[in-house]
Amino acid sequence: MSFRRTNGIVTDSDCSDPRKEADVIMTAAALGFAASHVVNGTPLRFDIDPRDRAKDLTGLQAVVGKIERAVVDYLKRHNLEPAGKVNAGLAPDYSKGAVIMGVYALANQSAPVSVSDPVLSAKGQALYDKIKNQELTQYTGRGAYTGFVDNRNTEGNTDPVGPRPTARFLTTDPDIVPADDPTMGGLHPRWLPRTGSASWISRLRRGTTDSYVPWGIIGGDVAGKGPDSTMPNVTRATNLADQITGEMGATDKMAFNGEPGACDIAAYTHGMIQAIYKGYSLGPSCTPYEIAVGAVTTKMASCLPCTLFMVAQGYPPTSIHLGRGESWAPLYQPYNPGSEAESNELAVIRDLNNSWRAKCAEWLALGVQILDDAHIADDHRAARDALRSYLSSNGSDKTVAATLVLDAVTVHESESVRIGRTLN
Ligand SMILES: [Zn+2]
Repeated sequence: MSFRRTNGIVTDSDCSDPRKEADVIMTAAALGFAASHVVNGTPLRFDIDPRDRAKDLTGLQAVVGKIERAVVDYLKRHNLEPAGKVNAGLAPDYSKGAVIMGVYALANQSAPVSVSDPVLSAKGQALYDKIKNQELTQYTGRGAYTGFVDNRNTEGNTDPVGPRPTARFLTTDPDIVPADDPTMGGLHPRWLPRTGSASWISRLRRGTTDSYVPWGIIGGDVAGKGPDSTMPNVTRATNLADQITGEMGATDKMAFNGEPGACDIAAYTHGMIQAIYKGYSLGPSCTPYEIAVGAVTTKMASCLPCTLFMVAQGYPPTSIHLGRGESWAPLYQPYNPGSEAESNELAVIRDLNNSWRAKCAEWLALGVQILDDAHIADDHRAARDALRSYLSSNGSDKTVAATLVLDAVTVHESESVRIGRTLN
């Protein structure tokens, strides 16, 4: 996979501002996604963790109100009567083992009555209990959800799948993405900030003059700070960024597939996404879940990048949040640590990634139209114009929009903050 080494995500000049470009990319994606619901009469709700209700609900309502206004004004201008609504709400209450479910609407599935007590097959229940009680090795740190597939097949493979926690990959890892892999052919190149550009400043390791935390690594933007004495530091990191990586890997056991260098982009594939590929490979009587594990994760909702992927496949999540999906990425190859791939798995990954890319193209194209002068903050207009012109000059490449979403989430920020500062 080749890279675009530029200052900005969609521009390359001294005044490129990748933060604002990421803001407009993710805001456009969210607007296009929301409009596609509203126009069909499907309500859409963005949720916060009920534990943050006192602190955050008003802020989320303000952001969701901006989304709703921009979408409704656009639809009315196009003589479309908005049929659904965009709301702010509370995610289901957290309890140990509570789940987010991808609801396969085409097979007439519905959301579970209680997300803390999903009704599972007998074998599924046994595996779920082990995951819930942390009897298996799995990542338990920040943002720890683990993918899980309940399998109600009566023929062939009838085994449930899990735990499939978030895992880190290298975008250029030859074991993950072989250069000659036909499934990777023709993808728009990913953005890797140009050497010396401002994006690297906060990734310079404290006490060094030329050692940078590779692009994409979560926590990389605090490389200039000293370690936090209230956190474990088993890797004896000399800066906060490396301490966070040490905590995720050495302490909390996230699987790191390959060690990123200066010419790599680190990417994280969430458990739900892994579960969807597996569930789809195994057949329609399988249900993908993400189970909350560990003590630090209580938000029972899917991040926006996961949500876009899930909805593109017809598996909308039981709840959606507008927090962070830092350096989110899909899989490019089957990933089955300790077990076997299904025979159709590579084809499923290719097909689902293509459906996701097609939906990203649709949502982003609609979103940049909704993002008109009346609704965009003045200081984001230039970035919006740059995004529009990038999309139109690469119009024949159907993978551009999805690539821009991947690039945007390497600029780490919560979606509600991005949307809040982009929209009037
Ligand atoms: Zn996610």
